[in-house]
Amino acid sequence: MSDLQQTLTRLREALGDAQVLTGDAISQRHYSDWTRHAPTCPAALLLPKDTEQVSVALRICNAAGQPVVPQGGMTGLAGGAVPRASDIALSLDRLRGIEEIDAAAATVTVRAGTTLQEIQQAVADAGYLFPLDLGARGSCQIGGNIATNAGGNAVIRYGMTRDLVLGLEVVLADGRVLNLMNKMIKNNCGYDLKQCFIGSEGTLGVITRAVLKMAPQPGESTTLLCALPDYASAVALLRRLQRNAGTPQAYELMWQDFFRMGVSWLETPVAPMPDHHPLYVLLESSATSEVLEQTLEAAIEAGEVVDAILATSQTQARSLWKIREATGEFPVRLAPLNFDISLPIGQIGDFADLCRQRLDERWPGNHNVYFGHIGDSNLHLTVDCNSLPQPAPVYEIEELVYSAVGELGGAVSAEHGIGLLKREFLHHSVSEEALEAMAGLKRSFDPKGILNPGKIFG
Ligand SMILES: Cc1cc2nc3c(=O)[nH]c(=O)nc-3n(C[C@H](O)[C@H](O)[C@H](O)COP(=O)(O)OP(=O)(O)OC[C@H]3O[C@@H](n4cnc5c(N)ncnc54)[C@H](O)[C@@H]3O)c2cc1C
Repeated sequence: MSDLQQTLTRLREALGDAQVLTGDAISQRHYSDWTRHAPTCPAALLLPKDTEQVSVALRICNAAGQPVVPQGGMTGLAGGAVPRASDIALSLDRLRGIEEIDAAAATVTVRAGTTLQEIQQAVADAGYLFPLDLGARGSCQIGGNIATNAGGNAVIRYGMTRDLVLGLEVVLADGRVLNLMNKMIKNNCGYDLKQCFIGSEGTLGVITRAVLKMAPQPGESTTLLCALPDYASAVALLRRLQRNAGTPQAYELMWQDFFRMGVSWLETPVAPMPDHHPLYVLLESSATSEVLEQTLEAAIEAGEVVDAILATSQTQARSLWKIREATGEFPVRLAPLNFDISLPIGQIGDFADLCRQRLDERWPGNHNVYFGHIGDSNLHLTVDCNSLPQPAPVYEIEELVYSAVGELGGAVSAEHGIGLLKREFLHHSVSEEALEAMAGLKRSFDPKGILNPGKIFG
């Protein structure tokens, strides 16, 4: 019997046949994530029912030196959950459910396989808000959100997933269970080990449970579209709003060509204001209309805003958002090469100019568009591969963009992680010494290197 067959026999004995699938019994959902990168059937799929089964499974795999790929909702955008044919995939699908809502502590305790949407709903039913929100909410799991330190729509106000996690339960590669569950805001008892696992993309341990922070439900908000003369004004307006009207719930900056493209894709392609301005910001604020109008007047006087529309109805607000939501049409209308990068907020305008200049010099006539959640220092750049010589020089474009990110002190991944797809470019943002320290941490938690090998590190 091969080593793999012996390991599978042990796993079946320990977990039961229904928890160990092979061959055609494995759904294709487990072959790749949302990137559809290199879909591969893993050697087996484990579906443990509780933390104890995760622990036993990892103990057996670790003893055999068998690589294991943790899998959540498979919505990742970096290839982090993609298995190789020799890997065993470990899915958290069956570790599902809300364990407790503690109103006094304002926390919710959940199992790792619970979808984000289920958590949002349970917390809303209890009269609170779980502020993490992203497009994949119906499929992604909280374990995956934590393992990727996901960002999403509300980061400007509530922070990244890291800012919403108070406690974790993690199973290490050798099967030891680390109980780091905690409901307290202040807890300085030695190293805060949970931080090591948040954003570790399944390379340091398997997350099985979590304690998350709940927030009060927000009040009504107002939607505004403003035209701006330059990038410095976008930063000045954000800081003015924060001083006078509180941090906005959304602050979405669109460069002129993104705005024009978004308008041209509307059902009725009529711009809500002239489209010759260099930049447009769509923002949501929960300040009173009086405060918002005063802040806007001051911004117009200071020259930061040159035109503005304040939505007076939900319908008008929705139609303004439709322009920004052009990104949802990218896969249909373009051949998009998308970048999720971050830079210090003051540098984002310079970066966009530099990047566009270099792309245009190298591939004249190429189509590249920019929009950013700049309050989170996050910029999204899309190059349409249809506008390039074929086959599109994908690697060269990535190298050009990521090296420019490195030059300006930015991060090659803002919120999607490194996984398989960005590991070659990580060195543009992380020094050799820091990479070695990360590898040392990996060796310490997973000495045999069985957890998600080949992810993050080459
Ligand atoms: C339509 C859409 C919109 C999105 N929008 C955003 C967005 O706005 N912001 C953003 O940040 N991301 C976004 N994403 C990507 C985002 O990373 C994922 O949606 C989500 O965080 C991953 O969760 P998942 O359960 O699907 O994880 P998976 O894809 O299954 O796995 C992701 C990584 O986490 C690891 N992992 C999964 N579960 C565990 C666990 N329990 N323990 C240890 N490791 C684990 C895997 O090994 C892998 O490395 C979007 C994706 C889609 C498809």
